[in-house]
Amino acid sequence: MNRPFLLSLEDVNKTFDGFKAISNLNLYLEEGELRVIIGPNGAGKSTMLDIITGRTRPDKGKVEYGPDTDLTRLNEYEINRLGIGRKFQTPSVYVNHTVEENVWLSLEGKRGVFASLFARKTPAQRTRIEEVLSIVGLLPHAKRVAGTMAHGQKQWLEIGMLLAQNPRLLLVDEPAAGMTDEETAKTGELLMSLEGKHTIVVIEHDMAFVRQIARKVTVLHQGTVLCEGSVDQVQSDERVVEVYLGRKKKGDH
Ligand code: ADP
Ligand code: MG
Repeated sequence: MNRPFLLSLEDVNKTFDGFKAISNLNLYLEEGELRVIIGPNGAGKSTMLDIITGRTRPDKGKVEYGPDTDLTRLNEYEINRLGIGRKFQTPSVYVNHTVEENVWLSLEGKRGVFASLFARKTPAQRTRIEEVLSIVGLLPHAKRVAGTMAHGQKQWLEIGMLLAQNPRLLLVDEPAAGMTDEETAKTGELLMSLEGKHTIVVIEHDMAFVRQIARKVTVLHQGTVLCEGSVDQVQSDERVVEVYLGRKKKGDH
């Protein structure tokens, strides 16, 4: 059957010790779109990524990738091999290696870290490393040891390491956390430059950042979609305002 979506989650549920972290969640992503997911702490945003990437198995529901791949049957490694890359909140780079070595070690098709470091780079690999570093704005820092870089630069490097694997779907959890305003704006530009080339899901709290990059925004609350639309639409939605500002309607306790 022909399905128009790159990823679809249907009626997904996940309970932890009796607590419903994900509840009847439906989410549909089109190929090449940049989707922003917002929602208060504990809304289930990271758990949703855990489910997509196979870190957590849903109790119930469908997670379909492409026309006919059921992700709930695959493990994390197999899912990653299908072109789904995830960036966790905190940067994880090889701190003792240079920026370019970090990208090299992440290149698509490379085997173990040990094999990589003692192999020679092919011209195609050199070109690809330069390409990736240029996309994430770190070409001038190629020879620096990653551990000496600023927090924002480490985050960009890690995005570069994901790009080195040429993912079809890129999942990015709160990339602007802990960044300066300037770094945040740069991160926004970087993510927007990837739109169309990859399908990107960005989870974010910082509303200025959301406003900068957002096309379609999905608001998650109590493990389910509260509303979806443009930034203006969701920001003016009464339910979203209530959830974010903790306002109560008359009659609520
Ligand atoms: P968000 O990323 O939106 O802040 P999370 O997905 O991290 O929210 O968490 C949603 C809820 O699920 C939270 O109440 C959290 O404590 C709970 N939760 C997430 N992962 C686990 C887990 N592995 N075990 C138990 N509870 C979890
Ligand atoms: Mg989270």
